[in-house]
Amino acid sequence: MSLVLFFFGPFFFKASHPPSRQRRLFVSVMDAIGPKRDNPPFREKSLFMTAKIIDGKALADAVRAELAEKVAALKATQGITPCLAVILVGADPASSVYVRNKVAACEKAGFRSIKEVYPADVEPIVVLGKIAELNADPDVHGILVQLPLPRQFDTEAVLEAIVPEKDVDGFHAENVGALMQCNPRFIPCTPYGVMKMLESAKVPLKGAEAVIVGRSNIVGKPMAMLLLAQSCTVTVCHSQSKDLAFHTKRADILVAAVGRAKMITGDMIKPGATVIDVGINRTADGKLCGDVDFESAKEVAGAITPVPGGVGPMTITMLLANTLESAERTLK
Ligand code: NDP
Repeated sequence: MSLVLFFFGPFFFKASHPPSRQRRLFVSVMDAIGPKRDNPPFREKSLFMTAKIIDGKALADAVRAELAEKVAALKATQGITPCLAVILVGADPASSVYVRNKVAACEKAGFRSIKEVYPADVEPIVVLGKIAELNADPDVHGILVQLPLPRQFDTEAVLEAIVPEKDVDGFHAENVGALMQCNPRFIPCTPYGVMKMLESAKVPLKGAEAVIVGRSNIVGKPMAMLLLAQSCTVTVCHSQSKDLAFHTKRADILVAAVGRAKMITGDMIKPGATVIDVGINRTADGKLCGDVDFESAKEVAGAITPVPGGVGPMTITMLLANTLESAERTLK
């Protein structure tokens, strides 16, 4: 039954609702590569745990397996291998790990990857020249520049240099505008991954109070657009918001994307809420943790994503999904 719903659900949705921009966006999210539903990525509640764990790693594995099948089919039938080019400037340890993980994920799923690494003091013109070369290469379907860039770079100018058709991160102004208009070309990978997690957890969105903590261009703002498009009532909080807990306690869906270890505690969460922790932080003893204090939050929330093993694996997965989609569009 769940398989039937997974395959035919989007068609049913299309048939039973008049088209609108919001709906087009919904269908676009739903139509993207999805996990098989016969093994939902949840760990069952234990006796001592209130919240269900939304297991991003399991969901990511399922989606990547489907992507790998599609990549193999594209190669076999069209002779096209989706290719992602990743540009890294400097040797920031976190950025190096992210790039390594992206390249490894590409290769594992049958994608081709190109990795261009430059020293931190490289002249921006050199990187812009490489972007122009990759833009013109028909065998390259996705280009991303790992952020942050060193000081001598105008980050916006670099992001704008990538042609929108290969901007698989969805950061180009043209693609940001398209998302605002609910007609996205590429959905930014982290919020896209969050939407897939909400979908897989069957979290009701229509009319839900969604509160996002963080208003960055890469997470908070696109997250707000996607939830709004699903008819959530959206509140975006930031460093100047007054009485943060007042807002978070109202949230049926709470997304934390701040970059401050464990700042959202259980007493700031509405009982039964779905809590999505985007944050990646390190504690004093070197362990990874999110923006949510998992231990106290899991006693109150209805469902929660862990860190690590939550949003992170889904971000890379949706990068692959966008790259595949870009490659498939070359056939149209
Ligand atoms: P940014 O630093 O760009 O944005 C942080 C946001 O948090 C800002 O809008 C800031 O407000 C807000 N903020 C800061 N302090 C507070 C506060 N005390 N109360 C409320 N809001 C506050 O971060 P990103 O959006 O790039 O990333 C956020 C986190 O998500 C980081 O930990 C990052 O590592 C992680 N991340 C994880 C990814 C994944 O795949 N899991 C992908 C991308 C990011 P203001 O605008 O006013 O400054």
